Amino acid sequence: MLKVNLLSILDLSSFSFMLHNFALIFFTLVILLLIALLHRQIKSSKLIKSYFDESSDGILISDINGQIIRVNKIICKLTGYNKNELLKMNLTELIDEKSLDKLPLQIGRLRNEEAYIINRLLKKKDGTKYYAEVSAILMSEGNVFSIVRDINIQKQTQIALEESEKKYRQIVENLSETVYSLDKDGNFTFITPAVGTITGFKASEIVGRNFIDFICEEDRSLVKKEFEQNKEGYYHPIEYRVALPNSEIKWVRSSSKPVIENNQFLGVHGIIKDITEKKLSEIALKESEEKYRELIEQSADGILIVNDNYDIILVNNYICDLLGYSKEEILKLNVKDTYVDGDVENLYKRKTLLDNKTVLHFERLAKRKDGTTFPVEISLKHINKDYIQGIMRDISERKKAELQLRNNEERYRSLFHKNLSVMLLIDPATGNIIDANQSAAKFYGYTTEELKRMNIERISILNLDDVLNILHNAVIGKNNHQQLKHVMSDGTVKDVETFMSPIILKDRKVLYGIVNDITEKLVAEENLKKLSTAVEQSPVSILITDTDGKIFYVNPKFCKLTGYSVEEAIGKNPRILKSGKNSQKTYEELWAAVTSGKTWHGELLNKKKNGDLYWENVTISPIKNSVGIITHYVAVKEDITKQKETIKELTEAKEKAEEASRLKSNFLANMSHELRTPLVGILGYSELLRNELKSAELKEWTDTINESGQRLLDTLNQILDLTKIETDRFEVEIIKVDIVETVSEVIKLFEKTAFKKDLFLKAVSGESHIYFNTDPNLIRLILSNLISNAIKFTHDGGIDVSIFLNQKNEKHELSISVKDTGIGIPNEKHKLIFEEFRQVSEGLNRGFEGSGLGLTLVKKYLEMLKGRIILNSSPGNGSEFIIKLPDINTSSSTNQFSTHPKHSIIHTA
Ligand code: ADP
Repeated sequence: MLKVNLLSILDLSSFSFMLHNFALIFFTLVILLLIALLHRQIKSSKLIKSYFDESSDGILISDINGQIIRVNKIICKLTGYNKNELLKMNLTELIDEKSLDKLPLQIGRLRNEEAYIINRLLKKKDGTKYYAEVSAILMSEGNVFSIVRDINIQKQTQIALEESEKKYRQIVENLSETVYSLDKDGNFTFITPAVGTITGFKASEIVGRNFIDFICEEDRSLVKKEFEQNKEGYYHPIEYRVALPNSEIKWVRSSSKPVIENNQFLGVHGIIKDITEKKLSEIALKESEEKYRELIEQSADGILIVNDNYDIILVNNYICDLLGYSKEEILKLNVKDTYVDGDVENLYKRKTLLDNKTVLHFERLAKRKDGTTFPVEISLKHINKDYIQGIMRDISERKKAELQLRNNEERYRSLFHKNLSVMLLIDPATGNIIDANQSAAKFYGYTTEELKRMNIERISILNLDDVLNILHNAVIGKNNHQQLKHVMSDGTVKDVETFMSPIILKDRKVLYGIVNDITEKLVAEENLKKLSTAVEQSPVSILITDTDGKIFYVNPKFCKLTGYSVEEAIGKNPRILKSGKNSQKTYEELWAAVTSGKTWHGELLNKKKNGDLYWENVTISPIKNSVGIITHYVAVKEDITKQKETIKELTEAKEKAEEASRLKSNFLANMSHELRTPLVGILGYSELLRNELKSAELKEWTDTINESGQRLLDTLNQILDLTKIETDRFEVEIIKVDIVETVSEVIKLFEKTAFKKDLFLKAVSGESHIYFNTDPNLIRLILSNLISNAIKFTHDGGIDVSIFLNQKNEKHELSISVKDTGIGIPNEKHKLIFEEFRQVSEGLNRGFEGSGLGLTLVKKYLEMLKGRIILNSSPGNGSEFIIKLPDINTSSSTNQFSTHPKHSIIHTA
């Protein structure tokens, strides 16, 4: 457009310049003719003189050879010479060398009486050059009359204009586009040579001819119509076909601009561009559009084709729907109209990126007709060098989904990573662990980073093939729950339960695995199995009810015991066992205990299905759930019917035995009394009889009666004492006694017997008096028994009775030892001899007389005194019986002493 304007300015200025020159020349010629006429016909020297002097032009008269004859003042001024100098000069001296060569030709023309006007380069006296217009005419006398007008300024301007025109002409002529001008009738007035490259016509062949001659028949009306429009001042670029001389056809695009001056249409200036190639490809495109229209229209993507200026050339309906334009509207748009403000510069940036080969993919916001925007994905590529194909896809949904996904991913991420369950993401194709959470790291003993570098095979005890098979089944949903064994970092193997399901992660199908450690669960299950077996096989019956008292479980023992089958028992109330023999209070206590969470123990007399009664030892405990709420009650019941019967029998037996014992004691007490009374008579009268008798033999007989009686009495006394002790009728009296004295008294009683057997019998004591709180009567009985036995079982040597008083923690302990040199007692008999009626040698052929009650009584007496007895003896080494007695407080009453002392009697070898 700019070029067209420049051209118009250039044309107009040269046009006016030419007009001006023609006017000047015309007037000069008129003057010259007038002067020549006057000179020839009037020959008035006065008139010439006045014209000479008053003319504004230089006037010079010379002869035909150029010798200056006359000049006016203006000539002097122009040339810088004075009149005198000039009158001696030839014309040629005033002309620049460059203009001299044409001088003879001009002189020749003068000689033919032709006037001429010529622009000539002249030189002044000082050598400066200047352009002058010289008009010359031959006068009648043969001299040459010249008018010299200084046109230096005009000429300089003209030269500048000519140079400028030349320069612009060069530019215009070198344009690849063809520039042209038409007159008001459509005839070419000017056209640049570039037209040749388009049409093959020379510019000269075109100028003067009407544009219509060159336009193809089909497009003539279009171009004519545009020309008519131009006349009205309107103009548009139009495309049409030009018919070439070789009958070829070229497509051109012409932009013309009307030239209108003073409301008058003078013509047009225009520019033509060859668009044949582009047009053909466009046609091809259109054709392919026809061909592929269906395809394009049915495309799920928006398709648009733009030219290299990004004007939209072709679109499918989908694009129209996307952008909210009609097809007609959109085809008038440029791609930038679908850009949001501020993004347009990216459009141009992309244009530079897009070469003929690359395909550009990018996302941007597209603007609809109503100004709303939405995200689209664009692919751009060149179809050919002039056209670009764009594919536009609405990605609003995808963006929304992406956002959703991002939110989901965020949620998933925190769900995954912060979950307390062990979680893994596994690539099912390879078994590689894609991700693992903190719980997994903690469980397996690896860091999450280490896990993410591992294959699942590393933590499984299975081989890769089996692992991949499991993963494959999980992917196809065949089996997503597995019980497996996993290896920890320290090598331990744990039982795990895995749940795997496929999920899509970044377009990839992966497995989402949750791993539960079931090692403890399996142990618990195993335990439960054992427990249930224990319960099932229990010898006690077990019954579980819910909190309403409905039976929920019974074990086989229950069924066996009660006669109810499992089916009969389940759902019933344990009331079915009620015999009506237990007190209501028992049941109240039972319920109060278990409902308050306590365990109840007790015995119940229940009833079997067949009506038989049975005793049960029952423990009922509440079962609480994890939050401490009672959900069930469990009763463990042991059938104690037999035990109860046994206890009953035993109790009866015991009662009978006690009765018998009592009867025995009574009998013995009575019998002793009954036996003792006659014995007193026997002993007394045998004593009296002995004193009366003189015969030694008769005396001996009475002695035997007396001794036998005494022996019988001793035995009777022993039996009586034992009976007394057993029937709690033996009384203990503690007093302070001199033990030395008491011992001496007892020894005295046995001195005679010892003497008879030729045995020594002596008492040994460190002190002459030892006072001790005890029952002297019992001490006497104890010592009598022991000394009597010692004498009886000793044949040689004798008996030492020693007394010691030991101080022990401020308490006194009295020890009395009766040591003999007799036959001794074997170790195994040490315990036995303290039992009633037991002796070392027993049976009919026993070697020693005696009842076997002596030591039994000793033991019982000692028990009453809270004492003990120690035996040191072995066969052949004699025997030593040591009694040890505690000091008993005299203030204590006799009642304090029980016949069943807590202290035991110690026997030592
Ligand atoms: P008894 O002397 O009337 O048979 P004991 O109860 O006094 O009844 O004695 C039980 C038995 O202990 C005696 O029969 C005897 O075998 C044995 N025994 C008791 N004292 C001695 C002793 N000093 N030396 C040897 N054996 C003795």
